[in-house]
Amino acid sequence: RQSFQFHRTSSFGAKTGRVPVGIGRRRLRIVVTGGAGFVGSHLVDKLIDRGDEVIVIDNFFTGRKDNLVHHFRNPRFELIRHDVVEPILLEVDQIYHLACPASPVHYKYNPVKTIKTNVMGTLNMLGLAKRVGAKFLLTSTSEVYGDPLEHPQKETYWGNVNPIGERSCYDEGKRTAETLTMDYHRGAGVEVRIARIFNTYGPRMCLDDGRVVSNFVAQAIRRQPMTVYGDGKQTRSFQYVSDLVDGLVALMEGEHVGPFNLGNPGEFTMLELAEIVKETIDSSATIEFRPNTADDPHMRKPDITKAKELLNWEPKVPLREGLPRMVSDFRNRILNEDEGKGN
Ligand code: NAD
Ligand code: UDP
Ligand code: UDP
Repeated sequence: RQSFQFHRTSSFGAKTGRVPVGIGRRRLRIVVTGGAGFVGSHLVDKLIDRGDEVIVIDNFFTGRKDNLVHHFRNPRFELIRHDVVEPILLEVDQIYHLACPASPVHYKYNPVKTIKTNVMGTLNMLGLAKRVGAKFLLTSTSEVYGDPLEHPQKETYWGNVNPIGERSCYDEGKRTAETLTMDYHRGAGVEVRIARIFNTYGPRMCLDDGRVVSNFVAQAIRRQPMTVYGDGKQTRSFQYVSDLVDGLVALMEGEHVGPFNLGNPGEFTMLELAEIVKETIDSSATIEFRPNTADDPHMRKPDITKAKELLNWEPKVPLREGLPRMVSDFRNRILNEDEGKGN
């Protein structure tokens, strides 16, 4: 880590470059928008660990300072409370653009704000990338495939998305963000990367963000019934967060724009997931059926051939190994919450 340093120059980024000093890779200055959130905070850990400087931009809508508190004394780390819908001036080499609520409960809470975050937020970060010559990575989503008519989904599939539904602020928002990203690439020569992320789980997910893995795990720990929506036969493919972070970094550092599916192809019905959570946490856990939400995709499973071939990436952690790692984090937080209430 001590073997590389850089001279501060008046400009940054791929076009002008920062001057490397000494042996090894030069230290980069990297922005992570949404870095106080679930995925962002794990990405920040990895970038700080490898010796880079990280600036997190977050408005704390769903993110928490707790996720980053272990970096607060590190001079290579900065945290800015800022909403990406507003412009910002920074000098950086790379931008990982994650800022956007990801759970349906959160993104439907204020759908117009979700669209603004996806469109104006992405525009601002692309404008920033263009001005300083930084590399830009968009975290898009498997939701761009909507309720897919192709299974598993390849990147070539254009999707089956309802433009006027309750999920549209998110999936159409991300589709527009992808469009903007490609337009800045083609029109302004910005070096861009697009990741289409499939359902991801792990430590630091919001306890009550309504996503299925966090719901089932929190419910089983609290000895409440696990809420299965609809008939529970819909499928999802669940990726452990460290696999995703490795994929995002491989994508940023690689040569290819994408889009790339980043997900674990292991596919489960919600009833199967409930069974695995039961085996992992509490063999007496029960389930309770609830009505499903509108436009819920019936199935989802990534085809990751492209990422395997071009990024040399594939997930390593199967669901049965990843879940226990998340459970200990959830147990601690739920215990602290209960103690806070004086229970
Ligand atoms: P998260 O909600 O934990 O994190 C999002 C972060 O963005 C939070 O810290 C939040 O405060 C911040 N944020 C939201 N709006 C903002 C704004 N206007 N300005 C500044 N900050 C803002 O979600 P996550 O699971 O960590 O998701 C991160 C990214 O990955 C999102 O872009 C999401 O769409 C994408 N993604 C995640 C998944 C998944 O399963 N976790 C799947 C597909 C795509
Ligand atoms: N922008 C930003 N930081 C920068 C450069 C641009 O936030 O360092 C914003 C800018 O305010 C604008 C958006 O990014 O809203 C797009 O910028 P661009 O220069 O591409 O377009 P223009 O300003 O000409 O509309
Ligand atoms: N789901 C469920 N119980 C819950 C929360 C979600 O059965 O408590 C279902 C939901 O209907 C969907 C799937 O789990 O079919 C995944 O939902 P999630 O919100 O985690 O992510 P999505 O892939 O829909 O964005």
